[in-house]
Amino acid sequence: MSAHDDLKALIRTIPDFPKPGIQFRDITTLLLDPRGFAQTIERMAAATRGKVDLVAGIEARGFLFAAALAVPLNAGVLLIRKDGKLPGATIAEDYALEYGQDRIAIHEDALVPGARVLLVDDLIATGGTARAAVRLIRKAGGIVSQAQFLVDLPDLGGADALRREEIAVDALVS
Ligand code: AMP
Repeated sequence: MSAHDDLKALIRTIPDFPKPGIQFRDITTLLLDPRGFAQTIERMAAATRGKVDLVAGIEARGFLFAAALAVPLNAGVLLIRKDGKLPGATIAEDYALEYGQDRIAIHEDALVPGARVLLVDDLIATGGTARAAVRLIRKAGGIVSQAQFLVDLPDLGGADALRREEIAVDALVS
């Protein structure tokens, strides 16, 4: 079994969640496996290029990977939260969902201008969430040149959309 298949086998698919027609890639099963989670973080760390100042995780599953990855990279953790959750002054960014809109936010003073940020989430699908996160970090003065995901759904084009914004994208499972 290749390393890639190894992690893939730890992710299960739940059909029709959260609504009919969606194949939900459930990573909770990978998190329950100590070796699988450790391997995920090791491979993400190995795929990281150059010095990173902050690892940015997108609420909520992205937090798990960002926090674990920040330790071996000797970087800080930047929480990209759903709007309305952070206590200090924030900047926010809207993005389109299949139906309607959502908004993510960071503290306005979270970034030193020029900070090198690695963006992390569990999964990239259309890339709408990740692209909003990139706009937010760039608005705050950060530099996002790479992004890492546990899972890429390539047919939905999100990873390619990020690459068109000069971001190096890695995913462990596709
Ligand atoms: P997108 O903005 O379309 O790239 O969607 C990415 C976000 O939605 C990530 O935070 C994922 O956790 C979640 N997501 C989207 N599609 C799926 C799916 N099929 N299975 C699990 N999570 C998903």
